[in-house]
Amino acid sequence: MSTVLLRRANQHLLGIETLSALDIRQILARARILRDAPEQVHGVMAGVPVITLFYESSTRTRVSFEMAAQKLGASTISISASSSSVTKGESLWDTGRTLASMDPGVIIIRHSSPGAPQLLAEAMESVGNGAAVVNAGDGAHEHPTQALLDALTLLDRLDSLEGRTIGIIGDIAHSRVARSNLFLLRKLGARVLLGGPRSLVPKTLEPLGARIVRDVDEIIEVADAVMMLRVQFERMQGPPAFPSLSDYTRTYGLTAARARRMPPQAFVMHPGPMNRGIEIDPEVADGPTSVVAHQVRNGVAARMAVLERAMDVDGWSSSKDL
Ligand code: ASP
Repeated sequence: MSTVLLRRANQHLLGIETLSALDIRQILARARILRDAPEQVHGVMAGVPVITLFYESSTRTRVSFEMAAQKLGASTISISASSSSVTKGESLWDTGRTLASMDPGVIIIRHSSPGAPQLLAEAMESVGNGAAVVNAGDGAHEHPTQALLDALTLLDRLDSLEGRTIGIIGDIAHSRVARSNLFLLRKLGARVLLGGPRSLVPKTLEPLGARIVRDVDEIIEVADAVMMLRVQFERMQGPPAFPSLSDYTRTYGLTAARARRMPPQAFVMHPGPMNRGIEIDPEVADGPTSVVAHQVRNGVAARMAVLERAMDVDGWSSSKDL
């Protein structure tokens, strides 16, 4: 890209559900270029303010977005709910209108309520601001950039997702990662097997194209890759979702013994943060079949591509290697 033209065009990224397979392939292709050909990385966002507005804690997602924005030349401003006017009772709607009035380029939001990014986008549009909103995780709804970086990681090892079997195991009920991955994997032609305790694997995901398999060993023995999910204790209320942690690990955890049942080329993913010793054995998390660090590395490239798309950077769609 030689010309640096920016056009604000409200290219929100609210979820994977509304993207087409072509949209996904374009983002992944661009992410690959930005990762593998550093000479293709330009300061196309120079002078553009990018705000990270996080109402929930985060380590990798926030740093990864900020790093991605800075690599593209943007100036990042980070707002945490705990140090903002949210503590004075300001609504998300008013926060959105306030921030929009300062004319940022992109606002990246993480919130515990499903649909919060959509509300923010509407609030910003209500003051005529054309900034893009990017969802960095909204409750148990979606975490689109996690699914994109996961797809990038999967495709680094598997040439295509068409006909591949991907297992997602653990606390699926509370997982926005599971939902975004399910949408993406189905759009790119993969078969998705879900496993975990009955209380944490909602049947409502079956109509979206997943198959629930009660015995996780059956998933582990056939999957090309397994995504192990964190047990999200902070989102659990009421009676325990399973009898005890040791029962959970024995029945659903990726123990070293269970990992040995994976097919020879199969590999292990986890979006982090990990509950080591609960859903995944430390030996597996750090072992040769784990691609966890690679996922984190791919996160920066995937988010750079998402930010370029959000800003509708001129020439963005002309450099696709599909
Ligand atoms: N980091 C991921 C998320 O924000 C997964 C997790 O928290 O377990 O959804």
